[in-house]
Amino acid sequence: MKLKKSLGQNFLKDSFYLDKIISSSQIDATENVIEIGPGDGALTNLILHNSKSLTAYEIDNRFSEFLKERFSKTNFQVVNKDFLTVDLNDVISGQIIMGNLPYNVSSQIILKIIEANLDYKHCIFLIQKELANRFIVGPKSSKISIQSQVFCDIEALFDIPPEAFDPAPKVNSAVIKITPHNKYESYFSKYENLKKILAICFANPRKKISSALKNFDMDMAKFSFDLNSRPEELEITDFFEILIHYEGQI
Ligand code: SAM
Repeated sequence: MKLKKSLGQNFLKDSFYLDKIISSSQIDATENVIEIGPGDGALTNLILHNSKSLTAYEIDNRFSEFLKERFSKTNFQVVNKDFLTVDLNDVISGQIIMGNLPYNVSSQIILKIIEANLDYKHCIFLIQKELANRFIVGPKSSKISIQSQVFCDIEALFDIPPEAFDPAPKVNSAVIKITPHNKYESYFSKYENLKKILAICFANPRKKISSALKNFDMDMAKFSFDLNSRPEELEITDFFEILIHYEGQI
């Protein structure tokens, strides 16, 4: 089959890394799994052998038809759909979610799942390394890492080199684990306002936070963090402080 670059069709072929993804996923014979972008089914095959059931979402009907034939098992179903159009309320109920995600829509898929804030166990995703670094909490914050932290912890598990794929992508990849938490439950209902605050704060990530906040009318001395800091130096609790102070002004 001719692979489509526009759908991020770089298939993971190296069995060492395929096995490593499975062993880090904590799936067993009691788990129901959702896979996003199964492609020709290398990971799908291993998930099926190690889980109770698997529902896979594949946008390319050539592969969804191929997989229907390849795995005609009762505990497998493949849905020929763009995952970004799926109503997650209808599909997520306690599963583990996995996938070697198409690079061009990885962040949209991850944010869709995280922001839906539904009952999934955890996600194991293979994504571009550069994007993984933006999601993970490190010495520097990003808009996307603060947004994610409201709902979950994200950790980097291991890297995968381009040679492990066919065709080989031009970039490095990493496997991440996303585990939902309720640590910041009291902020769930304020999430849309938090996103507006983050958009203002990260408009110029290298400028001081005092400059980003200059259009708000209030006594800045009340903040517990240093106003000379750059947005990327602040933590999620600092952004909660900003949200509480300025919520009425956005
Ligand atoms: N799972 C296979 C593997 O590990 O080798 C294939 C992974 S490949 C990086 C990404 C797969 O996602 C492709 O099969 C592609 O057709 C599919 N895909 C791309 N965009 C999608 C979307 N929006 N919804 C569902 N599947 C998508």
